[in-house]
Amino acid sequence: MAQNKVKKYFTFIEIWAWCDICKEMIDLKVDKDEIAKGLSMGPYTKEYKHTNPSPDPDDLDDPSINEHTIYVYINDQYSVTEVKSFFGASPSLPELRMGTQTGDVRIPIIVKEVPKMSVSLGMVTAEEYKVMKICDGMNTVEKVAQIASISLENVEIIMEKLRKKGLIRIIKRT
Ligand SMILES: [Zn+2]
Repeated sequence: MAQNKVKKYFTFIEIWAWCDICKEMIDLKVDKDEIAKGLSMGPYTKEYKHTNPSPDPDDLDDPSINEHTIYVYINDQYSVTEVKSFFGASPSLPELRMGTQTGDVRIPIIVKEVPKMSVSLGMVTAEEYKVMKICDGMNTVEKVAQIASISLENVEIIMEKLRKKGLIRIIKRT
């Protein structure tokens, strides 16, 4: 797998994100304005639908010629912390299982959305809010830790707090 790359310009960034379906680097440009609006105390998820820009002409079964999606997670340093490739509306179970240590797929999902204001009101901490933003139903607990750049141990603690506050639920899939 090639390393994701970002080149920063004055008003936008250019990203080369590894798509696991195309087996290619996908080139996309994202306005800094768009990222700034999306960041709001957590990473920004850029959704990018595409087909393989250079499919293998000898492989007639290559699925990457069909439209699929990458999710590119961008942090406030304009770094790409994770890229997810999938067909359809959300990643499949095997796609989710990659990157977990035990093969147990635990996916945190939001039960109750809280506004950003909740942080200044002291209902949730900034870190809890950041974690919640990544609980988009696409990420395992392990991936949330990676994207948030928080240790798995701490993410487990944060999630337990959020769960007790009734804000998230953890769905187990086997
Ligand atoms: Zn692709």
